[in-house]
This record gives sequence, C-alpha cells and structure tokens, in this order.
Amino acid sequence: MTTGSTTFAAGWVNGRELSGAGGAHDVVDPATGVAVASTTLATAADVNHAVGVARNALGQWSSATPVERSAALSSLASAMSAAADQLAAEEVRQTGKPTRLATEFDVPGSVDNTEFFAGLARNLEGKASAEYSGDHTSSIRREAVGVVGSITPWNYPLQMAVWKVIPALAAGCTVVLKPAELTPLTTLTLARLAAEAGIPDGVFNVLTGTGAEVGAAIAGHAGVDLVTFTGSTGVGRQVMSQAAAHGTRVQLELGGKAPFVVFDDADLEAAIHGAVAGALINSGQDCTAATRAIVARALYDDFVSGVGELMSKVRVGDPTDPATDMGPLISLRHRDKVAAMVDRARGAGIRVVTGGRAPECPGAFYPPTLLADVPEDAEVYRDEIFGPVLTVSAFDDDDDALRRANDTVYGLAASAWTRDVYRAQRASRDIRAGCVWINDHIPIISEMPHGGMGASGFGKDMSTYSLDEYLTIKHVMSDITGVTQKPWHRTIFTLPR
Ligand code: NAD
Repeated sequence: MTTGSTTFAAGWVNGRELSGAGGAHDVVDPATGVAVASTTLATAADVNHAVGVARNALGQWSSATPVERSAALSSLASAMSAAADQLAAEEVRQTGKPTRLATEFDVPGSVDNTEFFAGLARNLEGKASAEYSGDHTSSIRREAVGVVGSITPWNYPLQMAVWKVIPALAAGCTVVLKPAELTPLTTLTLARLAAEAGIPDGVFNVLTGTGAEVGAAIAGHAGVDLVTFTGSTGVGRQVMSQAAAHGTRVQLELGGKAPFVVFDDADLEAAIHGAVAGALINSGQDCTAATRAIVARALYDDFVSGVGELMSKVRVGDPTDPATDMGPLISLRHRDKVAAMVDRARGAGIRVVTGGRAPECPGAFYPPTLLADVPEDAEVYRDEIFGPVLTVSAFDDDDDALRRANDTVYGLAASAWTRDVYRAQRASRDIRAGCVWINDHIPIISEMPHGGMGASGFGKDMSTYSLDEYLTIKHVMSDITGVTQKPWHRTIFTLPR
C-alpha cells in the first residue's frame, strides 16, 4: 500500500535523475508497515552507464586543485546543513530510528564528516623528496585511485554514504554508490544536494537497486578501480570474490560482536548506563553496539539487575515523537530473525531478564532485551543479532575476561570499564578490535578511524586513514646525473664506450 508517499528516481547519474527499468519499489516505514515513498529500481545496465559516466568525469575531477575540491565539499556540507530537517525526516521515515538520534547524531555527524574531508582535501602531501641512490631524486605522488564503487547498508544510510563518498571525492575519485534497497531516500537526496552544491556532473552517482543485481554488477565491474562495502560479513565476502574477477581493490566494513568488559573496580552505575545506551543505540542495529557484557563476578548480580531495570524504562514507540528513545527494527523480516534467536536462547535455558517478546502490532518493534548467564557456546553469544539484545556472562579473573573478549571471529569494537589505569592499558593493548573504548562505548569522531579486524573486515572509514583508502602511492624517481651510461648498466651489459 502506498499512502501519501513520495516518488523518488531510480538514481542520480551525471547530475540528473535516472529513470530505471528495474520496476517499482516501495520504501516502507518499519514503524507502521506503510509505504512512505516509492522508487524505480536501477538495473545492471544502469551500472554500466553510471561507471562510464564516472570514468568520463574522473580526469577533470582528479586534476581539479585541492582548493577547488575542498570548496565544492564545503558547499555540500552547507547544503546538507540547510537541508538538515529534510534529511532527518527522511532518515526517520525509512529506518524507523528515533527523531533524536537522526537530528542529534546522523545528520550533524554527516555534516561534520563532510566538513572534515573538505579540509583534508587540501592536505595531500607525501613524503619529502630525497636522494636515496645518490644518482636519483625520489618523490611520492598520492593520486586518486579512480572510479570507486560503493555499497552501503540500511542501518545508518546517510552516514554510511557520507563515510564512503566524501573521502573518495576529497581524494579526487569519482563514485557510483548503491544504497540498501530498504533505505535509498537520504542517499538520493545527498546526490541532489551535491549537484546543487556544484559537485560536477558524473562525479557522484547513485543507483538504487537490489544487491543481487546492482550491487553484484558494481562489485564485479571491470571499470571500477576500488570497491568499498559496508554490510554483513557474508555479503562482504561475496563482494570480495566478485571484485576478485578483475583483481579490484576492496575495502570491507563488516559485522561486529562487541564485548563490553566490566572489571570489579568499575564505576557500576556508569557501566550500567553505558551498557544500556551502547546496546540499544539504533535499536541495536549498530555494528559497534555493545552485545556481550562480560562482567566481574563481584559486580555481576548488581549489573544484571541494574541493566534490566534501566532497559525496562526505555520508551519504545513512534520514532517521530521526540520523547521516544527507541524505534522499531528495520523490517518485520529482521524483527522475526532477532525474535527467533532470542526464542532459541530461551529454549536452550538462557535466562531472559527483561524483554524477549515482540509486541502484537503492525510495526517491526522488539523490546530491549537482556539475556543473563549466557554460556560461551550459545548462538546469541557468538553470532551477530543486530537487535536490542545484550547478553551477560560472568568472569573470574582479568585473563579470563580478556580471553572471553577476544573469543569471537569479529574484531570491530570493544569497551573496558575500570578505574585502574594499568587494567585500562592492558585491555586496550590486548583486546583485538579496531576500536577499544575505556569507560564509554559508541562515541565516534571524524578525526579518528573506524574499521575492523578479522571477520569485521579491513580498511578504515573516517580520519586521514580513510583518505588513504582512496589514494594510490606512486614513486617518481628522477635521474639527476645526466649520464648516458649509468653505473648500474654494468649489471646488464659491459660494452666498451
Ligand atoms: P547486507 O550485507 O545485507 O547488505 C549491505 C549492502 O550490500 C546492501 O546495499 C545490499 O543491497 C548489498 N548486497 C546484498 N547482496 C549483494 C551482493 N551479492 N553483491 C553486492 N552487494 C550486495 O547488510 P545490511 O543487512 O544492509 O546491514 C547490516 C550489516 O551491516 C550488519 O552485519 C552490520 O554489522 C554491518 N555494518 C557494518 C558496519 C561497519 O562499519 N563495519 C557499519 C554498518 C553496518
């Protein structure tokens, strides 16, 4: 059913809307189950077209001066600020995330990231030129990788698009991006704002469409020089093998199963608040969300009762109401997957402290859920749930805590809660994850990298490290002797002069 919904294009290619041939597609508000917008899906043929357009635009954009690229990105950041209310409203409608999260985190975070890379676009310096051989001057050029194919997930559609596109543009690359089919709206709006802000036609292109058709066509396209992907570990591996067909470089930001380690000297109240916020952000649909609380036995009972009590006070409901703390999950299908995992845990005898049953309503709601005394071999302890579900298990000594924290294939994020500086240092050294928070869990900043290890992928979003993903290093070695017959030629031939 499409009630009061808006119609969006199938994409934005070469500075204008694209009318795709892939059929109509409804974007559904997961809080109500009602379609709020419709798009036409793009197709694999559109990928060919968009990659060609991005290739054509590459020469001019990559040779624009850093000042020119920086100015265009600054204009985009201003346009995003001016459109903040629209971007937030679209993000809330298509994801069901609470208005406060969209207005205080997603949109300002995206603007800040864009401003950061607008500045960084002017800092492409390499290493100093130097004479390493005595006969040559060596210097480093950092050049745009080329055409970037980006594929993004549905949990933070605007931020994920910005994290992928803006550093690529700052580096001088051109982009073809496919958002998740459930959440294309803010990415399409971002492309329109980019065109209005003066980003040249063909530099930033968006195609809606399914992963199986459009995503796979981007990942496996011979004209794409780098594939950047954020999504699940399983699909990330498919993307990597699709890209391998042409030996294309890949960057993968994948799933997570973040441990939340509470030592016996921790500030218990701070840890309880941190666990509830860290587990429930975006209804737990956050790759860095706190998912496995590992708690010193001395604090265990108080932690479980404190988290259970605080979780039960969280206001779940209409995401457009500013008083709402937590909205629905992204879809009924995903809600059912989360519910089934919790049901299996309950069936296996795991204690459900709070939540654990979906309400009867048309929306994809699921309550904040705390599972206690969770054994290490439980599915809910090992696999990504991607819902508002926190597991808790006890540990007896620090070695055991750190061993448990690392007992996962994932390695995206973790936190350690302690007032002991030595424990904090040891945890930050020994926990294998792309980010370790001490006495907090979740905050991110544009200046620092985000990215994982192991099954969480490789490469970085945000920060100067992200810019490096979109640059390739070229060594330029210039003879400074002017000699015809170089000394090293004698290793090949020794003809008389
Ligand atoms: P997903 O892997 O199902 O989909 C991600 C994107 O890939 C979508 O655009 C989808 O259409 C596309 N896709 C699907 N099949 C494809 C194929 N065969 N070839 C190419 N593209 C294809 O992930 P999701 O459900 O949208 O997002 C949730 C997942 O994303 C979670 O696992 C979460 O942890 C992860 N995630 C990771 C990060 C990070 O930074 N590490 C950030 C956000 C989300």
